Amino acid sequence: MARLKLRDDDMCWSCHKKVGTMLHMLHNCDIIKDLWEKTVSFINELFNISLIKSPALCMLGIIPKELRMHGLNRQWCRMAMLTGCRIIVRQWKTTTPSSFEHWIEVMSNTATYEQVIFRLSGRQDLFLKTWSPFLDYINNGQYPRTETSPSICT
Ligand SMILES: [Zn+2]
Repeated sequence: MARLKLRDDDMCWSCHKKVGTMLHMLHNCDIIKDLWEKTVSFINELFNISLIKSPALCMLGIIPKELRMHGLNRQWCRMAMLTGCRIIVRQWKTTTPSSFEHWIEVMSNTATYEQVIFRLSGRQDLFLKTWSPFLDYINNGQYPRTETSPSICT
């Protein structure tokens, strides 16, 4: 933005401490550290895996090939990471930290939309295969509910 003369400086809009590169804004910034750490640790617990927080994982949704995971779970993880990026970009120009609780809320909403879409196309089975790990975890109370977490019936 600074190079395009749209801004006077090239500092991060959120923390105002470091140069606002794409890598910084989507992965390294202190203001989003908590979101990524909690999201990656949640996914690790969900699938009993050990993903490591990295730009490739968080910004591009790249899951290491050597990690043994069902294809649908892999796709779900990729979408989960891109949801994290979407939340960050939405709050790009604010100083409000993107939170893990917001990520849970957006993921729950996505599950609700996908449930309708899969049901309409007669693929409820595929919906359950894709979303069961997340929904079971949330609905079984393993994740501490917040007032913003909607309850989803499967
Ligand atoms: Zn920053």
